[in-house]
Amino acid sequence: PLRTCISVTDLIDNTLELRKYVLDTANIEVVRDYSPDMPALNIDPGQLQQVFLNLIVNAEYAMKKTHGRGRLTITARKDPDKFRFLFSDDGPGVPKEVRDKIFQPFFTTKVPGEGTGLGLSLSRGIVLEHAGDIVLGGIGSSGATFIVELPLGLACS
Ligand code: ADP
Ligand code: MG
Repeated sequence: PLRTCISVTDLIDNTLELRKYVLDTANIEVVRDYSPDMPALNIDPGQLQQVFLNLIVNAEYAMKKTHGRGRLTITARKDPDKFRFLFSDDGPGVPKEVRDKIFQPFFTTKVPGEGTGLGLSLSRGIVLEHAGDIVLGGIGSSGATFIVELPLGLACS
């Protein structure tokens, strides 16, 4: 895989830029909460951009369907054990009965034409290739939170 030393938060910002029109039109406010101590990481930027795009588009869909407006909060931080990138929306959340299915290929709750059910499965594969993981955040909070975890060892310096 093609690895480059790059700022992941810049990559997220570039991805948000791609969706700016759609986010604005849907009245989705984007809150960026990036820790200032994030080093550049050794990653495949094209692949990880695809992951961020999938998460953002899923969040747009979830929020558009419910209230025609919403807030997407993206957090980037260095925890003691790994880097974490959180994508948190205030849509309806992921129902308990499907929580263990959403990462399976072709699993979708969308009508044909709106979703292939491949986004999360492909995204998880990409992050696993980086020795990380994508997990669905805790039950109890409203909305959905997807967490991209990357190992501290990917830091360039
Ligand atoms: P698709 O978007 O084509 O349905 P994905 O693999 O991207 O496929 O997502 C699988 C399923 O996970 C979605 O159909 C939806 O049920 C659920 N899902 C994903 N993201 C969210 C979200 N932000 N809020 C609620 N449900 C979600
Ligand atoms: Mg999707």
